[in-house]
Amino acid sequence: AAFVTFDDVSLAYDQSGNAIEDINLSIHEGEFVAFVGPSGCGKSTFMKLCTGLHAPTTGSIQVDGEPVAGPLKISGMAFQNANLLPWRTTLDNVLLPLEIVKPYRHQFRKRRDEFVGWARKLLKTVGLEGYEDQYPWQLSGGMQQRASICRALIHQPRLLMLDEPFGALDAFTREELWCVLRDLWEAQRFTVVLVTHDLREAAFLADTVYIMSRRPGRVIERRQIELPRP
Ligand code: ADP
Ligand code: ADP
Repeated sequence: AAFVTFDDVSLAYDQSGNAIEDINLSIHEGEFVAFVGPSGCGKSTFMKLCTGLHAPTTGSIQVDGEPVAGPLKISGMAFQNANLLPWRTTLDNVLLPLEIVKPYRHQFRKRRDEFVGWARKLLKTVGLEGYEDQYPWQLSGGMQQRASICRALIHQPRLLMLDEPFGALDAFTREELWCVLRDLWEAQRFTVVLVTHDLREAAFLADTVYIMSRRPGRVIERRQIELPRP
């Protein structure tokens, strides 16, 4: 069944015309989709529409059968910069959503030990066992990004939104993290929307790749990827 649906969606920020235009698509629950296009084609705008941070100028967006009205609570997000809080350890950075997001925040004090167990397990999955008590400045860029992916997933969101999550990493680390992400997704099957300008990254990770044109951002191609993967 469709999990995210865009019907004839356009968005104009101002008089200068549409930033994205005539987007029609649907994303299945558990699908991994990637949006690829040049800078300024509206990838971040698309992301903000999915998560309800912007409303479309025309058209409609549904997530899980409901029109999106206001910020979506079922999503986790990661960006080009890991944006870890410098005064918190790795473990406490990963726990953050559980302190903020319903229903966990009401249970945080009572269930803290259990939540710490979830965070440790997730950190282990991404290869950060032993770094729980380190501060962000003690971690490499790749390790910080691993932690930020854990933070995006700790509250078990149904939708994971990734905006150029590996853009700041060297090529070697980037490809390592592709595998980390792919393993997490294969184990848990959340829905992923990845925005990137790296076509190789999109083809390696996603089931479906949408290619966006330059402004106004339109979907000019939708490609199903069926390559055998390592
Ligand atoms: P991308 O993420 O692909 O680089 P964006 O979604 O950030 O693209 O931007 C798409 C277009 O919309 C660009 O031309 C950008 O300058 C414009 N834009 C983005 N955000 C705003 C905003 N808040 N106000 C006005 N124009 C914006
Ligand atoms: P990216 O291309 O990585 O999305 P940008 O530097 O284009 O990042 O945009 C950073 C922020 O500024 C985004 O939140 C975007 O919505 C906003 N923005 C981009 N272009 C404009 C603009 N022309 N006017 C106002 N805000 C903008």
